[in-house]
Amino acid sequence: MSDLRFSGIGMTSARTRDRLVQRLREQGIANLAVLDRIRNVPRHIFVDEALGSRAYEDTALPIGFGQTISQPYIVARMSEALLQGGPLGKVLEVGTGCGYQTAVLAPLVEQVCTVERIGALLERAKERLRELEIRNVKFRHGDGTQGWRAQGPFAGILVAAAPLAVPRELLAQLAPGGRLVVPVGPEGEQELIRFTRREESVTRESLGRVAFVPLLGGKG
Ligand code: SAH
Repeated sequence: MSDLRFSGIGMTSARTRDRLVQRLREQGIANLAVLDRIRNVPRHIFVDEALGSRAYEDTALPIGFGQTISQPYIVARMSEALLQGGPLGKVLEVGTGCGYQTAVLAPLVEQVCTVERIGALLERAKERLRELEIRNVKFRHGDGTQGWRAQGPFAGILVAAAPLAVPRELLAQLAPGGRLVVPVGPEGEQELIRFTRREESVTRESLGRVAFVPLLGGKG
């Protein structure tokens, strides 16, 4: 693959990406490592070629199967919320989708274990991450509401689709000091929440209102 495909031209160029990063800064994203990933991950290769010119707009875009690539602001916000408090070891991601969030996060943590229920999306994500030479990711086709017990416990868990209530199994797979960032609630009324596992308890902080596709049960 040519370097040009990753670096982009015109609507996918460095200037266009800088504008997106500037916008995220203005909206309060402060973690420089995260902003750097947003600038450097070629979001346009994760969407259909016809949508490439819109890849650096701060919006969710369709990726097929009724799913969307997350809005850059949300990817940045969730990554920042997960990383706040120090570097992370193993992270579980539920809802790989096209793999964009995975690509942003992977170099910032030790390892990402990612679970997706739609097999075709997972295969595409694998291919993109291979192209980007991101190697610290383990993939699983399955129901992420069950977490990934064999790989746990996790220092961080990030959920990219909204359950009505937090799956118990995810909280159970959080290591001591670990953080779970998850959008919770029905469509139109979701709230982004960060849970932190303490010695004897779990604390809960609200990070504001958000809009996600629903977290579903079972394999797609
Ligand atoms: N972060 C992704 C976007 C994810 S959209 C990106 O950057 O592209 C949410 C994804 O969660 C969809 O791909 C959907 O298929 C998946 N999903 C929904 N319920 C799931 C479940 N129970 N287990 C695993 N994946 C699930």
